[in-house]
Amino acid sequence: MTSTTPGLAEPAPSAPVPPGRPSPRVVVVGGGPGGYEAALVARRSGADVTIVERTGWGGAAVLTDVVPSKTLIATAEWMTIADRAPELGIRTAGLPVDGPARGHQVDLGRVNARVVELAEAQSGDIRARLEQEGVELLTGEGRLDGPQRVVVGDRVLEADVVLVATGATPRTLPEAQPDGERILTWTQLYGLSELPERLVVVGSGVTGAEFAGAYNALGSDVVLVSSRDRVLPGEDADAAEVIEEVFRSRGMTVLSRSRAAGARRTATGVEVTLADGRVVEGSHCLMAVGSVPATRGLGLEEAGVRLTGSGHVEVDKVSRTSARGVYAAGDCTGVLPLASVAAMQGRIAMAHALGDAVVPLDLREVAANIFTAPEIATVGMSQKALDEAGIRYVASTLELARNPRAKMLGMKDGFVKVFAHGATGIVLGGVVVAPRAGELIFPLTLAVSHRLTADEIAQSFTVYPSLSGSIAEVARVLHQRQD
Ligand SMILES: Cc1cc2nc3c(=O)[nH]c(=O)nc-3n(C[C@H](O)[C@H](O)[C@H](O)COP(=O)(O)OP(=O)(O)OC[C@H]3O[C@@H](n4cnc5c(N)ncnc54)[C@H](O)[C@@H]3O)c2cc1C
Repeated sequence: MTSTTPGLAEPAPSAPVPPGRPSPRVVVVGGGPGGYEAALVARRSGADVTIVERTGWGGAAVLTDVVPSKTLIATAEWMTIADRAPELGIRTAGLPVDGPARGHQVDLGRVNARVVELAEAQSGDIRARLEQEGVELLTGEGRLDGPQRVVVGDRVLEADVVLVATGATPRTLPEAQPDGERILTWTQLYGLSELPERLVVVGSGVTGAEFAGAYNALGSDVVLVSSRDRVLPGEDADAAEVIEEVFRSRGMTVLSRSRAAGARRTATGVEVTLADGRVVEGSHCLMAVGSVPATRGLGLEEAGVRLTGSGHVEVDKVSRTSARGVYAAGDCTGVLPLASVAAMQGRIAMAHALGDAVVPLDLREVAANIFTAPEIATVGMSQKALDEAGIRYVASTLELARNPRAKMLGMKDGFVKVFAHGATGIVLGGVVVAPRAGELIFPLTLAVSHRLTADEIAQSFTVYPSLSGSIAEVARVLHQRQD
């Protein structure tokens, strides 16, 4: 059977527990990618494994976060591509040949039904896979009773190893409590049967930007309320600038340096009040102001597990907590809120706990993608991190609009940027802003993981014409820039 988490490999078979030695008992609390990948690895290593989940198999990643949002965005992406149709000479019956193909309409009820079906099917696949591998599945709320015991209702599970992978939940503002109808968190969006006429998105981080872009493409009038100077603070500044320009050019209202103080329902919709007193009206409001770790009431501190000031579980690079035998993975650790990182932390934890070869987590090798249109994919060190670390590097950027394949496809917004060490030419990081950048980043991920030089990329063949040709071309420019 194939892997159930995007980008995650089939767990490699490990040495079984030697005959005569009792199997170690592993209890995993949380059935998201941090938990279920670890459960599979532990089982393959010969452990007796129980996984406890209170809501649904696959966790928030599958049921409310990654899978639903990216499925919705798949429809939005189609609408964005359809906008290019007139330029490519496509006439849709009844629509003018020039101007955006806005005549296409989205049936949000149908879109959301598909989203929910797909997420449930994925959750079912994960459940089946865990059962097939011999993992015991327990539905309920898990709680630690000391470092070696987990209590679920009236079941008491003794454990040699406990993995806490309880994830996170949406943060809300006291003055903007979600009601699930007009004021929504991202987990409540899939209950909508009609497209919001005017959606106010509070928060311009990754989640806010992805949903603002998606709903704008689906046909909603979108207002994005951002407390910062520009959208996507913390991302590559040039990439964020492209996205903000694209947002504005597609008719989105972006309110920068505008902090939301509260939101309330009105007779016809919502009113979002900003800290400076301005009021933004909409039909619906999406609160995307971050997450809080699901670590309260779990008995963690009583079991000797240290939490950070923000309530995250403190872990080292092999996912150990401060309590012997207790490991933690995923969003509850706050290391990097990505499904791929959660799964990797979980696998590393089990390898360490069960005596398999361990490669500590290295965040420099993580590839990440923001599913806006165009997407922003990144790997390795960011320009800001390079500057702060005082590393001597060379950088080169190529606009996507210069790429022949992009011209043929009518793609204009985006770029490829690569950073290489100033002396050795080793690729240190890269940013791709393009449609499907999440796919295009892979050559740069290989380069960062295997310490390839810009010259090695430049000397490799790329298909002509291809978007990936820009990656080789950027690398050729870097050759001329090295000392
Ligand atoms: C809108 C959105 C889109 C995202 N898109 C992406 C993306 O495209 N790519 C990506 O890599 N990441 C994405 N992420 C991040 C990703 O969803 C998380 O990093 C990932 O879900 C973390 O996995 P986890 O296993 O730590 O937690 P979760 O997936 O949250 O799973 C934790 C599980 O633990 C359960 N649980 C909690 N407490 C208990 C308890 N006491 N007992 C039993 N069970 C318990 C919960 O019910 C939950 O099912 C996105 C996040 C959001 C919000």
